[in-house]
Amino acid sequence: MGNGIIKYLKNIVDAVLSIIYSERDECPLCKAYMEESFLCQRCLNKINFITGSFSIKREDYSFKCYSLANYSDNIAHMIIRLKYKKDFQCGEVLGHLLSKKIIESGIHAHYLTFVPMTKKAIKKRGYNQSEYLAKVVGKYLDIPVIKSLSKTKDTLDQIGLNSSERWNNVHDSFYIYNKNKINNKKIILIDDVITTGATAYNCAKELMNNGAKEINILTVAKSNV
Ligand SMILES: [Zn+2]
Repeated sequence: MGNGIIKYLKNIVDAVLSIIYSERDECPLCKAYMEESFLCQRCLNKINFITGSFSIKREDYSFKCYSLANYSDNIAHMIIRLKYKKDFQCGEVLGHLLSKKIIESGIHAHYLTFVPMTKKAIKKRGYNQSEYLAKVVGKYLDIPVIKSLSKTKDTLDQIGLNSSERWNNVHDSFYIYNKNKINNKKIILIDDVITTGATAYNCAKELMNNGAKEINILTVAKSNV
């Protein structure tokens, strides 16, 4: 009887392991067999990686922004799949790549945080993709993830707006949520895509105005449109 239970448990473990390993062996984008752990080399080669950082400067603040890649090809596919198709395997790949970017760039942070969505928008999608990415990065780098901002105003989708409309659209949209935690802290603010930088700037500014020591912005993609 004891042996029967052990055999039963072993079968379950084997089944779970086969699921885990079959997923690891298959590239989430092209489904090809891969030796690499997250994305096959061919799919990685189609990512237009960006080296270094750039600045988002306006009014009183200038923030450094680190973007993983240009918004094209496989990076765009993975963001769309995470954002609109609940493809969390793509989220895992993107989070892994973001973690590598943080290490390569030598950014230090007490906390990771993310660009918030309104309650209504979260209810519609079921999750906040930027929060999801922050949690994956937090898991890899062992940095705590905190909710530090809230968004109360339903803004228009930034897509389709010109630059000045984008800045006006998100002005005064973000409010501090966890003020005590951020005081004198270095924080990495995570978002999926940066275009004009209006959203990220306004979030980072709210954190600085409420006592944060340093904010670095980290996004998966940089888009020009
Ligand atoms: Zn592939």
